[in-house]
Amino acid sequence: MNAHLYPFTDPIEARATPPKQMVSGDGAYVTDTLGNTYLDAVSGLWCASLGFNPERLQKAATDQMGKLGYYHSFMGRTGEVTNHLAERLVEKLPDGIDHVFFGTSGSEAVENAIKFARYFQIGRGKSTKARIIARDGAYHGSGSISAALTGMSYCHDGFDVPLSEVIRTGRAHHFADAHQGESETDFANRRVQELEELIIAQDPDTICAFIGEPLMGSGGVFIPPEGYWQGVQQVLRKYDILLIADEIITGFGRTGQWFGSQTFGIKPDLMTMAKQLTGAMFPLSAVGMSAQIYDGLSEHAHRLGTFGHGVTYGGHPVGAAIALETLKIYEEMDLPVHIAALGAHLRKALEPLQDMAGVGNIRSIGFVAGIEFTKNGAPDDATARAVGEEAERRGVLFRIINNTLAISPPYICTTHDIDKMVQVMRDSIAQTH
Ligand code: PLP
Repeated sequence: MNAHLYPFTDPIEARATPPKQMVSGDGAYVTDTLGNTYLDAVSGLWCASLGFNPERLQKAATDQMGKLGYYHSFMGRTGEVTNHLAERLVEKLPDGIDHVFFGTSGSEAVENAIKFARYFQIGRGKSTKARIIARDGAYHGSGSISAALTGMSYCHDGFDVPLSEVIRTGRAHHFADAHQGESETDFANRRVQELEELIIAQDPDTICAFIGEPLMGSGGVFIPPEGYWQGVQQVLRKYDILLIADEIITGFGRTGQWFGSQTFGIKPDLMTMAKQLTGAMFPLSAVGMSAQIYDGLSEHAHRLGTFGHGVTYGGHPVGAAIALETLKIYEEMDLPVHIAALGAHLRKALEPLQDMAGVGNIRSIGFVAGIEFTKNGAPDDATARAVGEEAERRGVLFRIINNTLAISPPYICTTHDIDKMVQVMRDSIAQTH
């Protein structure tokens, strides 16, 4: 076990308390080397939307490997299946997103989107527009600029990430950040006004883009109040700043519509996606872009002689075949209808927990929820951790994020599975208090 340096883990502690080693999956359940089985209520890392061993994706992968297990998309060649995926994806993406570029991970998609936004600005003669606005509590990945954009200090500590390229603004989390008595609308308006003041103070001519998750996931499941995204977009348009929607968690049904941008009325210039694109069965990501961005990039690249960017495994044929089959399954599910039914069941099951001691706020949309713990009005990280750990002992995995437990289950969960995760949450809260 010492051979492995684990991500987001204290290496010294991991030597003393090694992580559980998962060996098999069955639908929404995973089993470790000791034979313990867990219902994974967060789909791994918000990604295994079709469970941990989906047969149809396994078949799509092996069929494609038997046919053409690898090809790239560089310099006059590409995998046919990769083009099929691009075509299908563009049909499903929100109106106004007409082109895609493939990568491998979510972090890479964010790195790509930022590079493309800057390339676009340089291409149209606005090279001073280079800095990016990102929000407190955001998670955008573990690359260089993507880690700098992330609004969590532990992603910066000890690393030399380019923080000077980032301008930070407030998150849209009414429950924790509103002033006493401030309504959701007033809070949304305040955040929008703060954004405008920040842009003016920092000089709009130096700002390339704003990046935001339609709903913040890894920060703690923060659902933006009504009017927030409309106001943000008005300000960005006024100051000629691009909008990048980071849809790596919200893409493919999680918030109720196919994309979070549709749920919250966002019209991005660029959007990132990964995770549920392949039901997590293959590392594949994409950046979607408007015709305006695509045309700007194309013309700039043509002047330079090539679009000098790409990776060996971007749009990998096996990943593309899996993604095509995943999209087909989502369509057969009638994704928004399916998510509405699951989400309604989860919401109703969680409602009674709101009255339990220690529970400050329960919020959900689509098939994602957050349970935030407070003590005397202040965030209570210790209780969230204790409840999450107790639930794990009882066989259900939630994600512990500071004082919040996140729920983001696979779409193949039954109502029985949902009832089970909520019952375990309830028992764990009761046990902890
Ligand atoms: N952006 C968002 C919104 C994410 O939630 C994540 C991962 O959780 C990423 C980017 C990074 O994706 P990856 O871990 O695949 O690099």
